[in-house]
Amino acid sequence: MAEPVHLRPRRPCPICKKPSTQKFHPFCSKRCAEIDLGRWLGGNYAIPAVENEEPDEDQPPEAS
Ligand SMILES: [Zn+2]
Repeated sequence: MAEPVHLRPRRPCPICKKPSTQKFHPFCSKRCAEIDLGRWLGGNYAIPAVENEEPDEDQPPEAS
């Protein structure tokens, strides 16, 4: 097998915008990877409960 040609451009680290490394892709370092992970675990993102898709059409939307 020949070396794969890198057709895709390298994306910068989403945390600090430095060139990402293969080891910590898509981040530049373990630190940035942990920062990103901490963002999710820290609850900074409001994750909608998409798994619980119960139709809620019995109750009309409250009009203020
Ligand atoms: Zn980084």
